[in-house]
Amino acid sequence: MVVVGAGIGGLTTAALLSARGMKICLLERQSQVGGCIGRVEFSGYEFEPGMGLYTSFGPGGIYEKVFAELPVSAPEVNLLTSPYVVRRADGTDVPITTADLYSIEGGPASLAERLAESIKRSGGNLRLNSPVLRLAYDESGRAVGVDLLSGERVLAKKAIVSNLTVWDTYGKLVGLNRTPLEVKKDLNMLRGPGVYVVYATIEQAAIARLPAERMRVEDGEGEFTLAIAPGKRTVTFTMRTDVDSWFAYHSSEEDFEASDQAALEQFWNRLHASLPELGSGIEIIETANPRTYYDSTRRKLGMVLGISESVSAGSQTSLPNVFMIGDTVSSEPRLHAVVDAAVTLVSRLL
Ligand SMILES: Cc1cc2nc3c(=O)[nH]c(=O)nc-3n(C[C@H](O)[C@H](O)[C@H](O)COP(=O)(O)OP(=O)(O)OC[C@H]3O[C@@H](n4cnc5c(N)ncnc54)[C@H](O)[C@@H]3O)c2cc1C
Repeated sequence: MVVVGAGIGGLTTAALLSARGMKICLLERQSQVGGCIGRVEFSGYEFEPGMGLYTSFGPGGIYEKVFAELPVSAPEVNLLTSPYVVRRADGTDVPITTADLYSIEGGPASLAERLAESIKRSGGNLRLNSPVLRLAYDESGRAVGVDLLSGERVLAKKAIVSNLTVWDTYGKLVGLNRTPLEVKKDLNMLRGPGVYVVYATIEQAAIARLPAERMRVEDGEGEFTLAIAPGKRTVTFTMRTDVDSWFAYHSSEEDFEASDQAALEQFWNRLHASLPELGSGIEIIETANPRTYYDSTRRKLGMVLGISESVSAGSQTSLPNVFMIGDTVSSEPRLHAVVDAAVTLVSRLL
């Protein structure tokens, strides 16, 4: 089988399939694994890539089930002892005590790296820097493998699994001319949110002044999350944003830079109004918006948080031997849900 994309969905699928003896080739366009949870480093600092909310690592959870089958152990995790705090718009703090929230040693990228290691140990073939261009078809219209950007063809006897979003699986791999009309209509209607992310360094004294290392902050303008990377003095702020405005109205690169700068200034004001205890103990290092996410993941319009509507497309594509895995076909756009969907897909494929 060929798996396209080494995000958490493609990695889990490929790791389980190869552990069960299937010959696997996993193709990833980037030079590292993980996709949305790949390592994030700027100016020598390492950042939490997401909101830092990871569940289901406990006994009986989905990760225990997955790693029990693999020739590698799960990454070290720590149950969060300090509560997750929601700061309301009126300034009050509401601690949310949950028995199922973990931090992952080395961040979620170590989860991706363990799965990659597992694929190699099981004899699977993981190829980085290998962008897939499209599916390859035989004369009868059956998908027989994939064509890489390099011109190489990789054949798949049994099945092809796409870790791309539903939009990109059809738009890029299947090809729009082979996509059934009703699927095209559905895809045109489906939207997904994007995110605006700010990566900053934070002084130890400022961390100590905060009520928690993971927060959701609500203010008059909406909400954002704060996640301090475990053991590091770096913080990631994440907020949802619509994607279209990031791809429209920019006639030049300068226009785009100006709009990113405006978003950052607006966020900076919100940040200091809602979290005054940060004071001057914080320094912005980098930002990411739907365009940056498009560049790093190639997801259509940088839509990185699944599908807004509660419809799930399911893992089967319109082609009998081509399947999808990832956060647009899982029950929710969260790591544990993608891993859970991969377990279900693997039992269907074998
Ligand atoms: C900012 C942010 C914060 C988040 N915070 C949390 C959190 O706190 N907790 C939580 O549980 N979840 C969180 N999530 C959600 C979670 O990270 C995602 O649901 C999950 O990582 C998505 O994985 P995926 O496998 O669907 O796809 P992706 O991570 O997008 O992986 C797809 C892979 O396919 C590769 N690819 C694309 N095109 C090609 C091609 N043509 N050829 C080869 N390879 C290709 C990409 O490079 C990528 O590696 C967050 C997401 C974001 C964006």
